[in-house]
Amino acid sequence: MTPRERFEALKDHYVELVQVNRQLEEQLAAADDRQDQLTAEVDRLERENDTLKSSSLYVATAEELTVDGVVVKQHGNNQEVLTEVSPSLRDEMEAGDRVAINDSFNVQTILDPETDARAQAMQVDESPEVTYDDIGGLEEQILEVREAVEEPLVNAAQFREVGVDPPSGVLLHGPPGTGKTMLAKAVANQTDATFIKMAGSELVQKFIGEGARLVRDLFELASEREPAVIFIDEIDAIAAKRTESKTSGDAEVQRTMMQLLSEMDGFDDRGEIRIVAATNRFDMLDRAILRPGRFDRLIEVPLPDWDARQRILEIHTREMNLAAGVDMADLAGETDGFSGAELASLATEAGMFAIRDGRTEVGMVDFEDALQKVRDDEDTAGRPIAFA
Ligand code: ATP
Repeated sequence: MTPRERFEALKDHYVELVQVNRQLEEQLAAADDRQDQLTAEVDRLERENDTLKSSSLYVATAEELTVDGVVVKQHGNNQEVLTEVSPSLRDEMEAGDRVAINDSFNVQTILDPETDARAQAMQVDESPEVTYDDIGGLEEQILEVREAVEEPLVNAAQFREVGVDPPSGVLLHGPPGTGKTMLAKAVANQTDATFIKMAGSELVQKFIGEGARLVRDLFELASEREPAVIFIDEIDAIAAKRTESKTSGDAEVQRTMMQLLSEMDGFDDRGEIRIVAATNRFDMLDRAILRPGRFDRLIEVPLPDWDARQRILEIHTREMNLAAGVDMADLAGETDGFSGAELASLATEAGMFAIRDGRTEVGMVDFEDALQKVRDDEDTAGRPIAFA
């Protein structure tokens, strides 16, 4: 290589080095900027952390977002306050969210959804074991439930093609312990659907301030698990006729019911989710929930008649080691006014008498003793028997 060529090569190399140097300087400047940003972010988080740690915060539910701020309801005392919220939190917040508020009721942070409450408030059964055969009497009711709940679940596509809407919701009403829950479970079993139960009374007693949210969660869960049968027990607790009083408890119940109605209104009836509700207090129900598109199929589940009582006793004694002479027809005659749940308890009670007596066979005498016990209990309590 001539000195000239060497000089040219060195010059090229130098130019390259200068370029690399410039690039590295740019990268360094960008890294410095990023570091500044991160330091600022760490400072902000530390400050936020300190403020959060400095005092305890109260848990509340954001009930309503208004132009003036947000209405929060503190858990525990149910105090409702209109308060302010920072624009960034407000963007993320939805009505029904759980939030933490400070002494001045300012919203400090949005809490994660309470999966706990959701799990506690709902009973989810992937495959309930009750079948139609386990239900004594109620043949007509079973037919109606099959038509209104089972058919649309099994033949969802057909309903869609024909363009017919099946009944939106089915309401089972009748005295306690007559098999309403069993009917809903049996239909879920028959259709391989998930059974999701929520008790109306718990929504308003145990999960104060969260009723509306739990109702929303209920429908969300059902759509995650479809096909599903949603069973709302004691619906009267959230759908009782409006009373004159305007206490905050009533407002809460109202909100829960409105949420239920809006979920049902915005619901595809031909989908793979069916809604069944039950009540012992049909007379108390707000008629709004019985309108078309809501609980528009009413099925009465009465106390069992003679035939049904005999059948229920047979069902509940089929696993029992019965002595000759135990006559279900006789027992059916002696148990007028008993509910299915009471008949189930009668059978168990008879079994207990046999066990106490050291026998493995249950005789008519045990059933007579069980009946006597029930009657004594009835006399001393001064009210109709209530087992289960
Ligand atoms: P509640 O209104 O109190 O919720 P319910 O009508 O939903 O009552 P279920 O929970 O279905 O009643 O019944 C309770 C128990 O009573 C059942 O687990 C079953 O053992 C028995 N039972 C009630 N009705 C019948 C029936 N028709 N056939 C067989 N068993 C029954």
